[in-house]
Amino acid sequence: MDYEAVIGLETHVQLKTKSKLWCGCANAFGAPPNTNVCPVCLGLPGVLPVPNEEALRLTVLTGLLLNCTIPARAQFDRKNYFYPDMPKNYQLTQYNQPSTALGFVEFELGGSLACVRINRAHLEEDVGKSSHFERHSGLDFNRAGVPLMEIVTEPDITSPDMAYEYLNALKEILIHGSISDCDMEKGMVRCDVNVSVRPVGTKELGAKIEIKNMNSFSGVRKALDYEIPRQIEAVQKGVKLVQSTRRWDDVVGITEEMRTKEDAHDYRYFPDPDLMALRPTAAWLAEVRARQVELPLARKRRFMRDYQLPASDAETFKNDVPLGDYFERLAKAAKNPKALANWVINNLRSKLAESRTGGAPIPGIAELSEHGMVVKLETGATPVLRGSLADLKFKPESLLELTALVEDKTVSSSAAQQVFAEMFATGKAPAVIVQERGLAQVSDTGAIEKYCDDAIAANSGPAADFKAGKVAALNFLKGQVMKLSKGKANPALAGEILERKLRG
Ligand code: ADP
Ligand code: MG
Ligand code: ZN
Repeated sequence: MDYEAVIGLETHVQLKTKSKLWCGCANAFGAPPNTNVCPVCLGLPGVLPVPNEEALRLTVLTGLLLNCTIPARAQFDRKNYFYPDMPKNYQLTQYNQPSTALGFVEFELGGSLACVRINRAHLEEDVGKSSHFERHSGLDFNRAGVPLMEIVTEPDITSPDMAYEYLNALKEILIHGSISDCDMEKGMVRCDVNVSVRPVGTKELGAKIEIKNMNSFSGVRKALDYEIPRQIEAVQKGVKLVQSTRRWDDVVGITEEMRTKEDAHDYRYFPDPDLMALRPTAAWLAEVRARQVELPLARKRRFMRDYQLPASDAETFKNDVPLGDYFERLAKAAKNPKALANWVINNLRSKLAESRTGGAPIPGIAELSEHGMVVKLETGATPVLRGSLADLKFKPESLLELTALVEDKTVSSSAAQQVFAEMFATGKAPAVIVQERGLAQVSDTGAIEKYCDDAIAANSGPAADFKAGKVAALNFLKGQVMKLSKGKANPALAGEILERKLRG
């Protein structure tokens, strides 16, 4: 019998707020242990939580970007359990009344469009962090009370690759929406992976097995690559799988059972008596709606459609929003948007990267954003460039002008490279540079005839080769003409004249 995998993901994301969810302590990574703490986030008795409105806004904004509904009422419950990293003995979380529910994420998967339904996106508080040393353990409560959003999918995911691409798409949306920095290295995104198997063609779900606390997307993919065949092999042998929790051992590359359903907690959820239910008003929702950004995939498709760009260019402009916006402002006036895109991506973008890193751009390596923060896409396709477009010396229109000069053959493409380099360095207008440096392409036949005669005279060998039928020799001679003319001769014209003279 053939089996298929059924996967659902619960993704925890730290929100990009200045302060924590219930107190004024900084929401910051990397401070010395227990320096961003106060009686509220340390869970001392008798304190009152005060909700951080920005965290509530960001959760609803996430809902809008994930095509979710926004219920009229949301509520925080106490989830009761004991653990040393959680001094209150309960976690505040939206349980059966989340801020947002029932949406979907669309993304590209192997050249076609995939969709995963979202069950809910709810807000809760993060807990502290324990560290275990040789003879003792330490607790750091800097993370306790940091706003954490949990995004839960329906069990719509069918393969490790699909899980990986969903996670990347989700991360991209959250970064574009300025909801989270999603820095994996700082633990800003953590994921629980639920997976079961069932005979192909059946509807009923198999026993749900949860792999807890994954902190990299490639780890999720590897864990599923291991876990799915493990489950299939077990059921094929007649083993009855039971609902359980496992952990992924990245070093050994296996999952291990931690506990089964029998040890499941009863969290005794009940509404927190200190927090009122949330009832977003129309005005409040309008304020959040105004912060909605275009979804990355929609942006990519729009660039392909409106400017006839290939997918790779549109992908670059999707990932690098400021660069894409820069292109778009000019593209509306461009005769040939594709030619403009080439200048923006191949020349401007690499010049910017060079001037920032002092060397060639390194694919997939993080770049600094305008806040000096590292932005890294795990797919690693394109480095993200931000900022510094504002510091360009030349006016944006100059790039349009340069494209037009190439289009109408005023300058050759090699001369255009020189114009661009100078324009980038000095901010001078292209027409001025062309004139000052005498870079206008020579289409005057008289002048080109002279260069051709000189090239033939100085290279009798290749000239004879061509006459003897070696067609490639013409390119060499053409190159000589371009050299003699300092790159200004119209290459097509030079070729024609050379051929005429040699065939004589
Ligand atoms: P819990 O309340 O135990 O967290 P949920 O029903 O809320 O469980 O589901 C948690 C996640 O597990 C969701 O993403 C859901 O889609 C997924 N899921 C539920 N049942 C299964 C199953 N049998 N196989 C795979 N994934 C599942
Ligand atoms: Mg769960
Ligand atoms: Zn605090």
